Amino acid sequence: MRVVAMVRRELRLHDNPLWQSANENEIVPLFVLDDFNQLEHGSNLRTLFFFALNELRQQISSLGGHLYCIHSKQQEAFLATVKPDLVLFCEDHEPHSRKRDENLVRLLNRMGIRYEVLRDSTLTPVPEKPFMTFTQFYKRHFLPSLQREGILSYPKPKRFSTPQVPFDEIPLPQVSSEAARKWCINEVEVLRRWRFYAQQHLPAYDRTRNFLTENACSQMSPYIRCGLISLRRLCQDALEINRVFVRELAWHDFYAHLLHHFPETTTQEWQVKWRRFAWRHNENDFERWCEGQVGFPIVDAAMRQLKQEGWIPNRVRMIVASFLTKNLQIDWRWGERYFYHYLVDADLAQNIGNWQWVAGCGADAAPYFRIFNPVLQAQKFDPQGEYIRQFVPELRHVPTEALLFDLTRLRQHAPNYPPPMVDLKASLVEFQTAIKEHLKRGEISR
Ligand SMILES: Cc1cc2nc3c(=O)[nH]c(=O)nc-3n(C[C@H](O)[C@H](O)[C@H](O)COP(=O)(O)OP(=O)(O)OC[C@H]3O[C@@H](n4cnc5c(N)ncnc54)[C@H](O)[C@@H]3O)c2cc1C
Repeated sequence: MRVVAMVRRELRLHDNPLWQSANENEIVPLFVLDDFNQLEHGSNLRTLFFFALNELRQQISSLGGHLYCIHSKQQEAFLATVKPDLVLFCEDHEPHSRKRDENLVRLLNRMGIRYEVLRDSTLTPVPEKPFMTFTQFYKRHFLPSLQREGILSYPKPKRFSTPQVPFDEIPLPQVSSEAARKWCINEVEVLRRWRFYAQQHLPAYDRTRNFLTENACSQMSPYIRCGLISLRRLCQDALEINRVFVRELAWHDFYAHLLHHFPETTTQEWQVKWRRFAWRHNENDFERWCEGQVGFPIVDAAMRQLKQEGWIPNRVRMIVASFLTKNLQIDWRWGERYFYHYLVDADLAQNIGNWQWVAGCGADAAPYFRIFNPVLQAQKFDPQGEYIRQFVPELRHVPTEALLFDLTRLRQHAPNYPPPMVDLKASLVEFQTAIKEHLKRGEISR
């Protein structure tokens, strides 16, 4: 049998459902370049993505096969040339990808080619009806699905037998961003790092994950995003070592299912009653946030790390998102787009879901009165100020006491560091009053 296996975000050999019949069949691995994704994604994600795609292409070659790269406009002509018996591709829950796949299915039906849709980007199938809270999703869908289905694993192919296809391929885009370089490792190295993390640090994950120290969390998100490691593998290991980690993976599934059922939330608030809230659109304030110049060290450290490394820990993602939306009242969409551009793990469902969660307008969101105080958060999760010192060099010499507890004294040590751009208490009251009034006026709720 001749099988076309379309590679999207599953850029690995091991535990990949696309290769499940590679040892028995003729396989044509295929990557289809899509202009939309090229324009939509920032250079950090694209750097890791094309690095991983190139690595995969080389590995497939070393096993005797060939990964074809074509442009989406060439898809029909390519399929007509290959004449496959079966086309395999993995489902994707982003609105653009779903439209793309509807068109693909129409084309395959017209051409009389069988196809099979596989699952790789979530651990559990997306339920037919949406769940409105994470806890319900976790208890009624996620855990029962894992129990029912178990966790599959797919053998690594021993060889690829790819037929010669007389077709003009396209060169892959050359993207190289400074920030993404440190993330560019192949799947063997990703697995090695995961094994190390799982053995050394995962047992303490429930206690350490919010601290801003190295190895507090797994840093696997960029590799999940590009499929250099499978969610199944992570989940299987974590089930035996630390179930808090499994619960975090369930959030990943939760947000994918939300985007699937509510595609309009890419631009609109999930909670209908929040829509038309008068978010501020102040370019100068936004710019200060982007540049890490707001005068709250933990916020500035995180925003500078984001620019330097294309990744920041979950705890500071929440702190900076809360600061932007609640203290500055700036539109969550601005923050979401900025993150999406810079994050090496940028994932639409995760980013939208989390931004709306922090802003208060998402499903099962942090209520509007829950606001992350950046001073207290720094004291709790960066108690020696090491994280701040790493990313805000002008504060390196400031004694910890001033750095974490006294912003006025901090500026005596570092006069060039900007003063806090808002009064935390006053901005909090302002936000709460504005949102309460808005919600009072609204009558619809989901
Ligand atoms: C404002 C904001 C924006 C975010 N944008 C993205 C994004 O674009 N892409 C992305 O992958 N994650 C996003 N997250 C979720 C989370 O911050 C990252 O997945 C996590 O920081 C990745 O680091 P890690 O792999 O070390 O996580 P770990 O703590 O080691 O967790 C393991 C895995 O569990 C999942 N996970 C953990 N926390 C969350 C969460 N809050 N939501 C969903 N899944 C989670 C991730 O797959 C993660 O890799 C965002 C969070 C916030 C608050």
